[in-house]
Parts: sequence; C-alpha cells; structure tokens
Amino acid sequence: MEITYGVFVFILGLVIGSYLNVCIYRIPRGESTVSPPSHCPNCHTCLKPVDLIPLLSYLWARRKCRYCRQPISPRYFWVELLTGVLSVVLWLRFGWTIDFVAFLFLTYILIAVFFIDIEHMIIPDQLVMAGLGGGAVLFVYQLFQPFPIYGDRSWWNPLLGLAVGSGFLLAVSLLGLALYKSDEVMGMGDVKLLAPIGLFLGWRMTLLALFMAVILGGLSSLVLILFGKATRKSVIPFAPFIVLGTWISILWGWQIVHWYLEI
Ligand SMILES: [Zn+2]
Repeated sequence: MEITYGVFVFILGLVIGSYLNVCIYRIPRGESTVSPPSHCPNCHTCLKPVDLIPLLSYLWARRKCRYCRQPISPRYFWVELLTGVLSVVLWLRFGWTIDFVAFLFLTYILIAVFFIDIEHMIIPDQLVMAGLGGGAVLFVYQLFQPFPIYGDRSWWNPLLGLAVGSGFLLAVSLLGLALYKSDEVMGMGDVKLLAPIGLFLGWRMTLLALFMAVILGGLSSLVLILFGKATRKSVIPFAPFIVLGTWISILWGWQIVHWYLEI
C-alpha cells in the first residue's frame, strides 16, 4: 500500500515537473504558461499526448524533437525527474500532512526559480507572488494549528522569518552598493525570494537556510575559481544556493540544529 502511494506521489511530481518546464521556458520570455499548448520551440509543431509523457517521451525520441530532429535540452528530463524525486522525499519525510502540502507547493516554485535563475539570472515576480499567496494561506492556518518547523507557536514567527530573511539580503545588497558602487552584489530578486521562504520556514529555519546558502555559495565559487571557470569578478547566481539551503532546512533543519547543540 505504501509503495502505491509512493508511486502516486512520484507520478504527480512528474506531471507537475512537466508543467514547471513550461514555466521555466516561458515565464522569462513573457509568454503565458497555459496557452498556446506545448509546441517544439524550433519547428513550432504542436506536441501530441504521446510526446508529452514525462521522462519517457524524451528517451523514446532519443533526446530530439520527433518532427524536426532538433536536439531537446536535457533540462526537460532533469526537471521532471527532480520534481518527481523531491515530491517522494517530502512525502517520506512528512507523510500525509498539511506540512507536506505546504512544502510541496514551495518546492515546486523553488524548482522553477532554481532553473530560471541559473539560465537568465532573474527571479520572476510571478513566482515570488505565487509563493507569497501560499505563504498568506499558511499564515492564517498557523494561527489555529501548530506548524512544527517554526519551533514555537507565536503568531508573528513567520512574519519575523520574512523580515529577517529579506532584511538580511537587503542589508547585503545596500552594503554592496555602498562599498563597491555595484548593485550586482546581491540582486533584488534574491531579497524578494526570501519573503515567501521566510513565511514557510519561520525565522529560525530561514536563518539556517541563509547560512547554508552562504556556505554552499562560497564553497562553489571557490571551486569554480580554483578550476578557472570563474574569476573573483564573475557574477554567480545566488538563488540556486538559497533554494538548496531552503530544502536542507525543510528536510533536516531541526536535526542539524539539535546535532549542533549537542557538540
Ligand atoms: Zn521540432
């Protein structure tokens, strides 16, 4: 029975992942994510249901468009797989709870943010607004029911999460502006992204997510510089690290805190 639920959650994730691919391609181009129906970006042939089966269509067609033979970005495959896998991981961690639904929603938004920021170095406002919408629903819910990741039951906890998350990155951004006369040290997109994350994580886990993001971002920059793939002046998108830090906090944040308090 459990395995049936797991397969169901995985397939749900694949279907959502397939829609996230549409969002990742179209939102930065200012196109609607619901119409027109999916088509090949090269030959514009409208895709049939058989072309739209997550994971399998891509493998069957040998990573090319079936109509014009133009190679298809492997991103389509990996976004679907990642969305399916993360859905199952969240379900294994939280079971059938409101927490599962809430973090699933946030995760789907963050997957789109992750891939759009890597490719275009922007975080679309639509995604931030969708996250804030979900965060507002969660805010009302937690007035009546405890939301364990917050760590306490004060009603303002998620609001403080929003304030410290966005506030911290805003401070970094202003500092960058003052010291380097550059607005590229920390983009406003990152500042905005922390608003929904703060609502979903509460202030404690938001701080942990930021801490993780800084460490992961710093280590990755160091590796890129050491291997000559970047210089100290390169602009490296930060949102992917915020996303990774958020997922770590959601899945293992409190374990990390307890482990740290014991050593
Ligand atoms: Zn084509």
